[in-house]
Amino acid sequence: MTEAAGPRRIAALAEALEQEGLDALLVTHLPNIRYLTGFSGSAGLLLVRRATAVLITDFRYAVQAPLEAPAVEVQIDPVSIWDRLGRVLGQRALDRLGVESHVLTTRDAERLSRLTRSHVVATADLVERLRSAKDADEVTSIRAAAALAQDALAEVLPTVRTGDRELDVAARLEAALRLRGSEWHPFPTIVASGPRAALPHARTTAREIQANELLLIDFGAQLDGYCSDLTRTMVVGRADDRQRTIHALVQEAQVRARTQVRAQLTGREADSLARDVIAARGFGDAFGHSLGHGLGLEVHEAPRLSQTNEMVLPLHAVVTIEPGIYLPGWGGVRLEDDVYLGPSGPELLSDGRTELLELH
Ligand code: ZN
Ligand code: ZN
Repeated sequence: MTEAAGPRRIAALAEALEQEGLDALLVTHLPNIRYLTGFSGSAGLLLVRRATAVLITDFRYAVQAPLEAPAVEVQIDPVSIWDRLGRVLGQRALDRLGVESHVLTTRDAERLSRLTRSHVVATADLVERLRSAKDADEVTSIRAAAALAQDALAEVLPTVRTGDRELDVAARLEAALRLRGSEWHPFPTIVASGPRAALPHARTTAREIQANELLLIDFGAQLDGYCSDLTRTMVVGRADDRQRTIHALVQEAQVRARTQVRAQLTGREADSLARDVIAARGFGDAFGHSLGHGLGLEVHEAPRLSQTNEMVLPLHAVVTIEPGIYLPGWGGVRLEDDVYLGPSGPELLSDGRTELLELH
């Protein structure tokens, strides 16, 4: 993140705290801490008061934390970051101290109530709401993560053969991602063959790929902390008519959604862009998940593109567009690309190459 981004994001959060009538927010969700400060460690507490922020972490990050988070005060406690928080809070009691109720465990909430005389207030998604509108650097990172993922897939697909195990393909793809610079896999790579492609979140198994079967690959890369998330479905061998028909229908729905999705549509309206196409041909029941999700430091974040989300999609959001049709016993097709919702409309961050490939 750029030098100016941290102070700007903390100032935006301070404004949100003011609107919520809070004196401070204890940020415990690590991706939120990373977003606000740049700190990427695995343990930390961030106390954001209206004007200042204190990051508390442990000995392992004594060198790393001040380097990554130059804009905030860093305190290192070799014994207990919670006890240190108690001392920081003890210096001045706050009237209303917000906590992230969607991530704070009950054990930590009890610990906090013993540490402070402040009134602890449950909040949800204050930082997540800021994160849902990306700045230009974030969009650049996601675009680069998508390009990296596509390059890795392009390298691996020509090596896929009948008789390969799903795990073999996943291993080669994950190696290609890492060798090209992906920091980590945003989620376990899904390689699902034949009837297993009907499982939307299939586990990759030792099943051997048979001739002329569908092969669904859902995977991503991570760069500067930012995730890409892509799904391609192909046939290992020759596609039959049914494979072609179902694939073409998912592709039609996906292209419609990714070219018409816009900021200010509700999550439900966005979801309907693809769902209406699929439902009109009688496959509505076979598209049993939502159209997509926000993408950023986490692979699933706000906003949700689903029938149950009546909130509007914010300008500058990055979302996935991933309709699918799943037919138990037969298989499934899902096609997923990453899209930036800019001021002049949707912009593809991935290559959108969803045509049906036949691997020979
Ligand atoms: Zn995916
Ligand atoms: Zn996804």
